[in-house]
Amino acid sequence: MKITPLLFKFSDFKALPKEQTDGMTGANPVYATVNKPDRVQISTIKRALDELEEVQYLPNDFLYMQTLGANPPFNSGKEAVEWIKQNKAKILYADFSNPKVHACLDYNPQEGITILINSNYKDNCSYADVLAISEAIFHECGHGKDMDNKNSIQEELNCLSLNVLAHRYYQKKYKGIFDNSSSFLYSQGVSLYPKLFFDFYKTALKNRVADKYGYLQSGDDKHPATKLADDIKRIYESATYV
Ligand SMILES: [Zn+2]
Repeated sequence: MKITPLLFKFSDFKALPKEQTDGMTGANPVYATVNKPDRVQISTIKRALDELEEVQYLPNDFLYMQTLGANPPFNSGKEAVEWIKQNKAKILYADFSNPKVHACLDYNPQEGITILINSNYKDNCSYADVLAISEAIFHECGHGKDMDNKNSIQEELNCLSLNVLAHRYYQKKYKGIFDNSSSFLYSQGVSLYPKLFFDFYKTALKNRVADKYGYLQSGDDKHPATKLADDIKRIYESATYV
């Protein structure tokens, strides 16, 4: 059952979902119709948060990220769960006009923080799906932490590093758990970024982030651009002749 649709439109709203991933310019609006969560969904979110709370980074992974040029906004999954509680962030399911958007975040000073999860995740939720949802929540918490609606390539890199750090923890904790997960949400997200971030050559990572987020500014006042973000911006500009 749907409640009154909440429409997030790129040009109309001050409070925007931060994931404007449809197309290289980000000019197309993403509409989100928020669903009233049912019991199964509420329990799925709870399970995802319980998993996230256990996430610790593997030895050296945090340092690896910083050396690469990404600054993870949290030191553990528990820190993010605490942040959700302290800020009374809501987590809801939504239908997105672009089904490729995994999750997005809405912040406005009146309503506070809402994390929206792609409703495609909700049915037949496997254990791997629960973990994937927890990674998406982790990512959006990273965006929410700065309490603004600005976004940048650097902010995305920082938040993507959270997905990767959590994913590597889950891979070690639950060996083989993602092996049979080949759907789009995995091949283009959950399982993709850990490979790209930890590949010896960073070309594929840069190209991917340029493709998805290159239209954003390389850094912002709360997330000063590292060389990695600047490199990505240059790739985007040279590809689009901006
Ligand atoms: Zn993001």
